[in-house]
Amino acid sequence: MKRMILATHNDHKLQEVKDIIGDLIQIVSLEEAGFHDDIPENGLTLQANALKKAKTIYQHFNEDCFADDTGLEVEALHGEPGVLSARYAGEHSNSEANIKKLVHELKEANNRNAQFRTVIALIYKGKNYYFEGVVRGTIIDNPKGENGFGYDSIFVPEGYDQTFAELDAEEKNRISHRAKAMAKLRKFLIEHHT
Ligand code: IMP
Repeated sequence: MKRMILATHNDHKLQEVKDIIGDLIQIVSLEEAGFHDDIPENGLTLQANALKKAKTIYQHFNEDCFADDTGLEVEALHGEPGVLSARYAGEHSNSEANIKKLVHELKEANNRNAQFRTVIALIYKGKNYYFEGVVRGTIIDNPKGENGFGYDSIFVPEGYDQTFAELDAEEKNRISHRAKAMAKLRKFLIEHHT
């Protein structure tokens, strides 16, 4: 089975990607590959950040690899926090602080529409490819659920009345932004006989 390094230090994300890709390829984390440095995410777009992460790993290991960058884009906030989702409440903020800030910013907003958007950058045989996935939904004020990570506990995907954090991992991985982007990556790899 071909191995491919996923450029992330986020264990939750790693597990989701492993679950979604199944046994098509062996996903190797940065830790497993022996890469322990932080990769700064200072690009202006999800695409730029995803490519930056993938390129850093490609330059280090010189083998096919990919990275995803995800943002929560809130309509009433003109697409914010978007590319700043990880550090919305400050440079070293955590999910709890980010959620608190987002809920505060939306206090007066009637429009609760938002979407998660994932961009995957793949470096395959030296060339760059991108795959995008979007899931639409709404933001609630009081976090609900224990599963998932990041903003999952305040995001209710369209067609559901539970948050991502209340759905089990299998259900989230069936409908999520990351699942949709990964399905496109999977199709690409199958078409290229990987
Ligand atoms: P990154 O893609 O790791 O840079 O993630 C950016 C921010 O979005 C972080 O704060 C994550 O916690 C959050 N995030 C990324 N993916 C998800 C997800 O699937 N659900 C909820 N939050 C997410």
